[in-house]
Amino acid sequence: MSPYIISSGQAAYLTINGKKYLNLCSSHYLGLGVNPRVKKAVKAAVDKYGIGTGYRTLAGNHNLHVKLEEALARFKGTEAAVVFTGGYMTNLAAIQTILTKDDVVISDELNHASIIDAIRLAGIKNKFIYKHRDINNLRSQLSVVSGQLSQALADGSKRRALIVTDGVFSMDGDLAPLPELVKIAKKIGALIMVDDAHGEGVLGRGGRGIVDHFNLHGQVNIEVGTLSKAFSVMGGFITGKKELIDTYKTKARQLLFSNALTIPDAAAALEGVRILTESDELVKKLRENTKFLKSELKRAGFDIGQSETPITPIMLGDEDLAKKFASALFAQGIFASAIVFPMVAKGKARIRLIPSASHSKKDLENAIDKITKVGRKLLKK
Ligand SMILES: *Cc1c(COP(=O)(O)O)cnc(C)c1O
Repeated sequence: MSPYIISSGQAAYLTINGKKYLNLCSSHYLGLGVNPRVKKAVKAAVDKYGIGTGYRTLAGNHNLHVKLEEALARFKGTEAAVVFTGGYMTNLAAIQTILTKDDVVISDELNHASIIDAIRLAGIKNKFIYKHRDINNLRSQLSVVSGQLSQALADGSKRRALIVTDGVFSMDGDLAPLPELVKIAKKIGALIMVDDAHGEGVLGRGGRGIVDHFNLHGQVNIEVGTLSKAFSVMGGFITGKKELIDTYKTKARQLLFSNALTIPDAAAALEGVRILTESDELVKKLRENTKFLKSELKRAGFDIGQSETPITPIMLGDEDLAKKFASALFAQGIFASAIVFPMVAKGKARIRLIPSASHSKKDLENAIDKITKVGRKLLKK
């Protein structure tokens, strides 16, 4: 558990142990957690409906859940959506509901822990873990196992193969090679699933996510999103064709045997989706801030990796150096996480900065100035 106790909202600044710090380490990309419209919608919903809901299959299927699913499906440009109480739960449901132990799964080695756990939970034996974003490695694994794979897919087609990837990888901010993965999925007759946790509200037109970014509408079977990053609440969702979503609605154990989203969560998420559907103002602001932060850090000579998203690593390599860097920034009023093993491989330690739409240019100028000074001192440049 973090020793830092926060006593403010997730805005441009955080109050930590009673003091004010510039917030460069949360995934509240759009500031929706403190957005006045979202707060107002939550208050109105609580006044009207109270707090709790229930099991949706029994007596807790609330009109806010239904409206949220309709709004999400429209926003993502898919036929239907189903919501769960967390991104982690959603990945478990997305995989466990449709795959059994005899099916085949093909997964990026750096996929999120919830995807790895979902594959375990489904008991899948035929796992092919390819090197991070490495299509050639994936292809060569497929050719080695092609006999096994075609057998798995051929017999009456009851068995399935699934290619699964994070859309945005959260430690580096790099993107899955989704167009190539879609091609391979088509070629071998596999389903394809993308976990767009860090792409929702960030990538694509108006933050519609990675499928929109690559213009792959209708070509990705299962799109998972979370409500805990850009939407700033809790919950997760799957979007896709109506038939598939109906399967999840009737069969997912994470829905049948677990309570539904509360009223405040559902109301906040719904208002967040409405805000993004109406305007791309926040997404634009996020992109401007990201561009500014990255270009200034590059100009100052930092190695900021291969990110294509607001996730901005400052590559340091050494673990102690990364920890020292984070403490020095903290001492100067900047909260940024040191990312070390096991979150990243040994020797790949870094500081991870995440700008948001809540930051002003001045906030970022101040941060860049301090980061540069700390860098000069610690890296002896
Ligand atoms: C954060 C995250 C999750 C988990 O979402 P929660 O809503 O926090 O449970 C799943 N997948 C990815 C890629 C994530 O970044």
